[in-house]
Amino acid sequence: MIDQKRASALPFHRKISEIPICKCSTTTLKSWGQRKTTIEELELCNFCDSRIGGEVEDVEDLAAKELAAEKAKAALLRSKKLDEEILRVITDAKSGSPVYLYRSIYVSVDSFNNFGGKISSVAAFNDLQVKAAGAQGWRVVEAIPRTSGETLENFEGFGKAWAGGIGGSVVGAYVLMEFVVTASNAEASSELIRETVSQYLV
Ligand SMILES: [Zn+2]
Repeated sequence: MIDQKRASALPFHRKISEIPICKCSTTTLKSWGQRKTTIEELELCNFCDSRIGGEVEDVEDLAAKELAAEKAKAALLRSKKLDEEILRVITDAKSGSPVYLYRSIYVSVDSFNNFGGKISSVAAFNDLQVKAAGAQGWRVVEAIPRTSGETLENFEGFGKAWAGGIGGSVVGAYVLMEFVVTASNAEASSELIRETVSQYLV
């Protein structure tokens, strides 16, 4: 018996849904015979290499079943890889080499616009998420500013001229935060590890 993974890699592998139904006469079938496959529970005609039995209508059902099976297989593989990576992180941390988890939080800052002397606020400062993460053991590593730029125009009558621009105005920041997984907190941090690993493991 060949397992499904190896079978799928074989050059002559065909999906059941893609194998047509044999329409040969009984005489042809008798003279050419039929064979049972070892990979799938299937009878094949030796003359036309199509499958014997089965209704034409169930081809769609089969295709759906095969698709579902492929999806389930992929999901299983991913969850296995995920578990392996989480275990790897926990094992590394427990063996004494600290592991770092990162997350970035967007913080809006209280930047404002100065439009002809009229000052309007763009956003309010909000660092609540950073405070909450900090209280859970996350440390700010650095902040990457989010900037905005705009070009300026001059109008005089119907004439228009570019008048330079301003750029690099900070309107917010992505705060990069770090959590250190050590031997003592590795077990307790498994959910945080899972969250991070599932983000980078695709
Ligand atoms: Zn046939």
